[in-house]
Amino acid sequence: MHLLEQRIRREAVVKKGNILKVDSFLNHQIDPALLDAIGREFYRLFADADITKIVTIEASGIGVAVMAARYFGVPVVFAKKEKTAQLDDGVYSARIHSFTHDNDYTAVISKQYLSSDDAVLVIDDFLANGEAIRGLRSIIEAAGAKLAGIGIVIEKGFQCGGDALRAEGVRLESLATIDSMDDETGEIIFR
Ligand code: 5GP
Repeated sequence: MHLLEQRIRREAVVKKGNILKVDSFLNHQIDPALLDAIGREFYRLFADADITKIVTIEASGIGVAVMAARYFGVPVVFAKKEKTAQLDDGVYSARIHSFTHDNDYTAVISKQYLSSDDAVLVIDDFLANGEAIRGLRSIIEAAGAKLAGIGIVIEKGFQCGGDALRAEGVRLESLATIDSMDDETGEIIFR
């Protein structure tokens, strides 16, 4: 997506440890016009998939997911992050390792909001090693729902998550894929 790549080139900051900061339009300050264009693009890519629900994870996925959901005309369910695992029978949960914080948390979705009738589009801001997506996928499977697709705003193609999911036959679309980035020069090369 050209508009998104332009913004990344102009405003993203490459940090040590393969972290890209996009705080000026996605992860801290949010540009609604850009997120709307992103939502529209996800709709164009998955319009044929009969999506009934969009699932994401708090906090950064929520803005993009809501913009996309306006086009699909479906609700958004976001997984909540719990530090301690005080879980009851009313929830689906998955343990996830956080790439950016290097710790583990439990992602939780209430059984009320996912069922075997659902065809789910998972949306997230970044795809790195695929841990967050893997956790959401196991929750969707536990609910008996169908994983109809995954939409990612920025995929770091040099990390293994995207390739592994595609090899498993998952329908995955990333709007910008980064092949390499350099924290010393700030250079970002797109696929
Ligand atoms: P994964 O689970 O695929 O290893 O990492 C994806 C999750 O970690 C995303 O939900 C995102 O919040 C965070 N993340 C991974 N890499 C980056 C990055 O380079 N920049 C930012 N801002 N978040 C990232």
